[in-house]
Order: sequence, then structure tokens, then C-alpha cells
Amino acid sequence: MKTLNKLLVANRGEIALRVMRTAHKLGLATVAVYSDADAHAPHVRFADEAVRLGPASSAQSYLNVEAILRAAKLTGADCLHPGYGFLSENPDFAQAVMDAGLTFVGPKPAAIRAMGLKREAKALVAKRGVPLVPGFDGGDQSTALLETKAMELGLPVIFKPSAGGGGKGMKIARKPEDLREAIESGRREAQGAFGDPTLIIEKYLQRPRHLEIQLLGDEHGNVVHLFERECSIQRRHQKVVEETPSLALTPESRAQMGAAAVEVAKAIGYTNAGTVEFIMDSEGHFYFSEMNTRLQVEHRVTELVVGVDLVELQLRVARGEPLPFKQEDLKQRGHAVQVRLYAEDPANGFLPSVGPVHDFHVHEVGGLLVDSGIESGGEVSMHYDPMAAKLIAWGEDRNDATGRMVRALEGLSVQGLTTNRSFLTRLLQHPDYLAGYLHTGFIEEKMGALLAEPKSPARTKLCAVAATLAQHLTRQAADPYLPQVLSGFRNNRFMEQFAEYENGARVEYRAQGQQRFLIDGETWQVISWEAPALTLVSPEGLRQRVRVVSAEGKLFVHSRLGDEVLVEKPRFPAATDSAVKGGFMAPMPGKVVKVLVKDGDAVKAGQTLLVLEAMKMEQATRSPTDGVVKQVLVREGDQVTAGQILVVMNEP
Ligand code: ADP
Repeated sequence: MKTLNKLLVANRGEIALRVMRTAHKLGLATVAVYSDADAHAPHVRFADEAVRLGPASSAQSYLNVEAILRAAKLTGADCLHPGYGFLSENPDFAQAVMDAGLTFVGPKPAAIRAMGLKREAKALVAKRGVPLVPGFDGGDQSTALLETKAMELGLPVIFKPSAGGGGKGMKIARKPEDLREAIESGRREAQGAFGDPTLIIEKYLQRPRHLEIQLLGDEHGNVVHLFERECSIQRRHQKVVEETPSLALTPESRAQMGAAAVEVAKAIGYTNAGTVEFIMDSEGHFYFSEMNTRLQVEHRVTELVVGVDLVELQLRVARGEPLPFKQEDLKQRGHAVQVRLYAEDPANGFLPSVGPVHDFHVHEVGGLLVDSGIESGGEVSMHYDPMAAKLIAWGEDRNDATGRMVRALEGLSVQGLTTNRSFLTRLLQHPDYLAGYLHTGFIEEKMGALLAEPKSPARTKLCAVAATLAQHLTRQAADPYLPQVLSGFRNNRFMEQFAEYENGARVEYRAQGQQRFLIDGETWQVISWEAPALTLVSPEGLRQRVRVVSAEGKLFVHSRLGDEVLVEKPRFPAATDSAVKGGFMAPMPGKVVKVLVKDGDAVKAGQTLLVLEAMKMEQATRSPTDGVVKQVLVREGDQVTAGQILVVMNEP
């Protein structure tokens, strides 16, 4: 058995923190690595030591093998955990780590390699009798052949990067005329994200469920499974909500799926933690989809239900210890659900949202775990994945776990960034979700209901009152001369003060002493104001907690009824600014990967003008109407900033 003393975590954000916490529990020292964008990030401050890798871009930092190995050498780390994403499934990296004399906390390079390419992995598991979705994964990658094979399989089909992961670059073709664009853009994204343009084709199953089995193997030939996770709630093939146990399995099918997964692991002599993914059709048949040879984002739900710490077990296995349990010792207890909080704007096509985090506050709920890479005063940068945090709730049964999660989401305040928080709240309360009618197209199918942020006059009023009173109390506290005297007192005790907001809300108020305020003839009372937490009592007597942050000239308000961002109206009208009419702006910083029009082109409504890449995702800019392109202001390869004009259209 090996002794491990110091762990380098070659990752960032919530997973780096999560791994380091367990390392400390086992008595290991920790080393963080970071890019310039993360110099002040939580994982860097948490670690015992930290080493800079390079500039912000992933390629120069978290994917920079040489710099990571240098950091290990500098700090004397004797083992390395890759987290997920970045280099976690790169067999050459695992090998390089071992060659440098470190213990790689993960499977052997050969096992990673065997599963790294979807094409090769499928061939391998087929030999073991594990069922596969009908598809094509031949070597000839000509567009013509891929088109023919897709037609033979029958549409719809899905094209996947063979080297892919994380749902990136997958394209569905439903009609013959979609095939070419699906193949070409799939290839482009595959090359960009994974450095390999090879695509495989699968028959696209209708309304399937995504289930996966958590595995753990030691160096002594033992492999166990830790049951399933259901990850059917996805958007664009990226998981959004995960849970265990799955309502789709019976004790028998659970045992079958578990045995199939163990079979896959044994086929490649798998050690450490891994996950075998399956898709299940509406009749309950399941098919191997791929194996992820690393820790998964959603591993926490398994931990809560099985009662283990998977990172601890990974470290123990890496030390050469045998697994501390046998298959028959493992049981599922209760139910756990995880949501991924993404920095994105559901109401605006789920556009990633980057920028400063003015408030990140979790309200205590029993049975809740929060893994967060962001914090108040921090920042979400455009360079990395838009997942900001994950929340995991446990309960005796599915209702308890879901209920706890909804409470947690309602109490969660994330200000400055737009997130999918309220979208998730509606999702978890959707009757079909509660009834367990899950499939991978669930979000797409219910999008209308999930996006509908109901107008709430009560919320608008509460947020406007809270913002106004918080501002008032802040001004009052800042007055060094008369802290005890009511604001407005010196001018005219009985004069109304007011604040007016761009959303139309206007709050006229009069301080009445003892933190009471008369608003619209009714009395509100402030119980406490410790920025940003405000507790106030409504005229009806309802006492509630609200959070108010003032930043960027805006007031960000969080309440149980929902969030509002308020902008105070200037008392004098501002000069009108000169917006470019009839143009297209970059909605966020990114890179132009394709320009599809030129000056003078006539375009149809819905036509793609250009394609941007931001946060590793392609975003098509489409024309909402028919029109004529006046001028294209960018070229392929250009880096653009948010708000930069890309294309100017002729006025109709
Ligand atoms: P990745 O490695 O990028 O995560 P996967 O092969 O695991 O890709 O697929 C991710 C998701 O895409 C699945 O969970 C499922 O929702 C969807 N998917 C994949 N293959 C199919 C298919 N053949 N039919 C329908 N949906 C599929």
C-alpha cells in the first residue's frame, strides 16, 4: 500500500473544492492550480498551496500538461486528481502524470483509452453482449457516406463526436435536408472541442430516458456498482437535474443494468470510479451509450443515497486499499436529487451569462449540500463552463427530496448574473416531473410552461419597497451627524420621499419612526437591515426576508416571490444614446467561427448570418425578418466583446 501525502487537483471551481475537502479529511495536503482568471477563486484560497498555470484560456492553463506537471514538481505533490472535464479523460495526461512519478487518482491510462472513443468503446462492449443502439461507426467519414448511412438507419438520427463528452457537438437530423449541416457543424464542433472530427451515427430514440450506473473498482480485482442515477432532464443533451433512485427501474432491471455495467468494467480491467451510461427506450429496453472514466458532476446523489464519499474511495483505491464493502453490503436509502445552477438566461435562449457575482447566498434547508465554485464578490468568466454551482437535496422519498430542493432554490440568491434558478424551481414543480414522466426531451417539450415567469404584482411591489427602504436605511446609516434622526426630518417631517424605477414602480414613503414607514397609506416595518439582508413586515403582517444588493447602478432584489433588478429612474431625462438601428450585436464575448453572409446579401427570416462560439458552445445569429445585409463588420476568427456590432442590416 502507498502513502499519499499531497494531492494536486488539476481543475477549478466547485469540483476542485469538493475534492480538496475530502483530501483534507484523509489528512492529505492540497495544491490548487489556477489560470489568471481564477487568481482569487475560492479553490485557490482553500488549498494549502497554489500555483499559477498561465493565462485565462483553458488551453494555456487547465489543459496545459507541462505547466501542471511543473506545479506538481514545485510543490512536491505525490498524487493528482483530475476532477471532471479538462484533462480528466485524457489517457496521455494520466500516463504523463504517472511517468512524472505521481499517483493518478483515476483509472489506468489503458482503460481511459479503451473508453475514450465512442466508436471503439461500442465495439468492445458489444463483444460482451451488452446491447447497443443501432447505428453506424465505420471508418469512412465522407459526408456522402455518412448521409447514406443515416438514411439507411432511418431518420431521425443523432451524430455524435466519437471523442466527445458532455453532450457537446451532438446534432440531430430529422429531415434529409438537415443532414449536411448536422454533419458539417458536428464535425466543426468535434474538432474544436475534442481535436477529432470523427462522428458516429445512432438512431435517435424517441423520448428515451438516460440512466447510468456508478462503478468502483479496486486494484485487487473487485468491482461493485453503486446503483443508478437518472439524468433524463437535459437541455441540448446536457444534464440539468439528476436523481437516484430512478422511477424507471424495478429491483430486477436495476440488478440487470448494474450487472451489465460491471461487465463493461471487467472487460477493461477498470479501477477507481467510473460510470456506464445507458439510454432506455419507452419499453424499458436499455442500451449502452458510453462509459465515463472519471468522477461525474452528479456523483453526489449517489453519495447521499448509498452513504459513501466517492472521492474518499477514489483516494483509498489510489493508495492500493481494497474496497471496504462487497456488492451485497450496498443499499439505497432515501432519495436524492441534484440541480445544476447554470449562469445562463433561460428567457433569452439560455444565453450564457458572464460577469461579477454580487450576491451568492444559500438559505439553510435540512438535507442540502451545495457545491459551489462562485461566491459573493466573485465572477463567472467566459472562459469556462457556465455551471456555477450544484445543489443536492436528500429526503426519505422523492417528494421530500424534491420539496427540499424547491425550498432551497426559492431561498437561493444569486445576483448580478442571470441564472436558471427560477426555471429550475418551475421544472421541479411541474406535474409531469412530480409524476415521474421523464424523458430526455422533457425540457424541450414543456419549454413554454417552464419559461413562463408569471407576472406578479405582489413581487414587483415587495421588491420595489425593499429596494427603496434598503437604500433609505443605507443613506441614513451613512449620515454621520444625525444617525438617530429620521431621514427627511430636517426638510419637512411630513414630506413624502419617493423612488421611481424603470419598471414603472414608484414608492412614496414617509418615515414614521421605529423603523416604520407609511407607503400608499399602509405601514411597513423593517425588522433588520444588515446589508444585503433585509427583514421586513408587510402591512398584512407577513414577515419576510429579502436581499438587496446595490451594484452597477442597479438594485438586485431577491425575495421568495422571485427576483427583480431595479434601476432607479434619473430625476432628469438622460440624453438619448445613439444605438445602431437594424444591426446585430454580439450578446456576449466570444469568437466568430463562421460568417455565412456578405455585404449586399438578401436574407430570409430565420437564416443564419454567422456563428459565434462562446463558453464552448456555438450560437447562431439568425435574422428575425427578411432583409438585406448592409455591412458585415467581423471576420471568421475574430474575438468579439459583448455588445459589439457584428452585422448591419439595411433599414426595410
Ligand atoms: P456525451 O458523451 O456527449 O455525454 P452521450 O452519448 O452520453 O454523449 O449522450 C448524451 C445524451 O444525448 C443522452 O443522455 C441522451 O439524452 C442523448 N442521446 C444520446 N444518444 C441518443 C440516441 N441514440 N437517441 C436519443 N437520444 C440520445
